[in-house]
Amino acid sequence: MNVFSRLTPEAQGLGMTGQRARDRLIARLKEEGIADRRVLDVLTRLPRHLFVEPALESRAYEDTALPIGHAQTISQPWVVARMTEALIEAKIPDKVLEIGTGSGYQAAVLAVLCANVYTVERIEGLLREARRRFRKLGIANIRSKNDDGRIGWAEFAPYDAIVLTAAGEEVDSALFDQLAPDGVLVAPVGPAGKQKLLCYRRDGDEWKAHTLGQVSFVPLLGGVA
Ligand code: SAH
Repeated sequence: MNVFSRLTPEAQGLGMTGQRARDRLIARLKEEGIADRRVLDVLTRLPRHLFVEPALESRAYEDTALPIGHAQTISQPWVVARMTEALIEAKIPDKVLEIGTGSGYQAAVLAVLCANVYTVERIEGLLREARRRFRKLGIANIRSKNDDGRIGWAEFAPYDAIVLTAAGEEVDSALFDQLAPDGVLVAPVGPAGKQKLLCYRRDGDEWKAHTLGQVSFVPLLGGVA
């Protein structure tokens, strides 16, 4: 976990209060069913306050989504934890594709655990901020691009795991085409107010989904902004 040893104490944000807030968050995640030590360890150590606007830093270790500008949000820690657990459950994926970089937090969590992370964001301003955070944290194993991620990122396919962090009515078949045969795809699916977090794996010739929980994500939108 070199990422963490490279951080300055300031970037780690580990004052007494910071550490206590993080410990409370981890205790809550455990209560809410997050059990994977590897995931809990990353969420304990990765400074989420660096992924939110300075005015919201004091709330960064609450188990809640927070605004990041452009009408988007950084996902709730429980959601990040649950998705990450599902993505690494069978094996640690070597190559992961994320659709919806947003603040960059989910990508950074994955970059600690996986060798290669690819992430696509349609809003250029958000992507620029996320890249600045990756640099600041010394994270060098994330490739990112400004594009409509609904059709994935064919250039580096196949991926061992794909995660969508914005909700569509369905998952585009292009994404399944870019998934390795033993791969896993995690995505929020459904209309606002009725979204389910689904985990797809191959069963014979078909991709079968099971539900990880009820969720509330921002919508998956078309085009580039
Ligand atoms: N993973 C992010 C969550 C950000 S919210 C985090 O950890 O902060 C979801 C993001 O998906 C938003 O930034 C939104 O702009 C982006 N998004 C929505 N539709 C998209 C699309 N078609 N392609 C790429 N990104 C998309």
